[in-house]
Amino acid sequence: MIAIVSACLLGINCRYDGGNVADKELIEVVKAGKVVPIPICPEQLSGLPTPRKTCEIVGGDGFDVLNGKARVLTKDGEDLTEKFVRGAKEVVKIARLVKADVAIMRNFSPSCGCGLIYDGSFSGKRKEGFGVTSALLMQNGFKVVSVEKYLRNSV
Ligand code: SF4
Repeated sequence: MIAIVSACLLGINCRYDGGNVADKELIEVVKAGKVVPIPICPEQLSGLPTPRKTCEIVGGDGFDVLNGKARVLTKDGEDLTEKFVRGAKEVVKIARLVKADVAIMRNFSPSCGCGLIYDGSFSGKRKEGFGVTSALLMQNGFKVVSVEKYLRNSV
C-alpha cells in the first residue's frame, strides 16, 4: 500500500519548531513493509522555512480556507493562507504521481490535521476539523486518515 505520510510522523525534523513527532508504531509498520511511505511536509513544500512561526486556521477549518471563508494566520496576524494552499496543492500533485492509496496524517496541524485542529484562538484549544492539505486531498478523492485512526482506530 502506498501512503502519503506527514513527514514529521516518520522522524523528519520538519515541524515549525525544527523537531518531529516520530510515531514508533507507524515506523515499525513501515519497516515491516506493510506501507510504502511517501513522506511529505506541505508547509516545507509551500516554501516556508524550518523553524517557522506557528499558525492556526482562523474562522473555520481547511475546507473553509479552500472556499475562501477562513484564513491561516500566525499568532501576530501574518496571513500565510496562500502558502498553505500552495503546499497543499504540491501534496496533491505528489499523491497523484504515486497513485497513493491513503494519506496518513498528523492531527492538530493547520495543514495535516485530520479530524482535530487548533481552534484559531492560539490558546491551545482544539476543535473538530481538517487542515488545508487534508481537506484538499479529500476534495481530490484521496482517502485521508489520522495516524491515530490508522493505527489505533481512535481519533
Ligand atoms: S505540516 Fe504536516 S508534515 Fe509538516 S510538520 Fe506540520 S504536521 Fe508535520
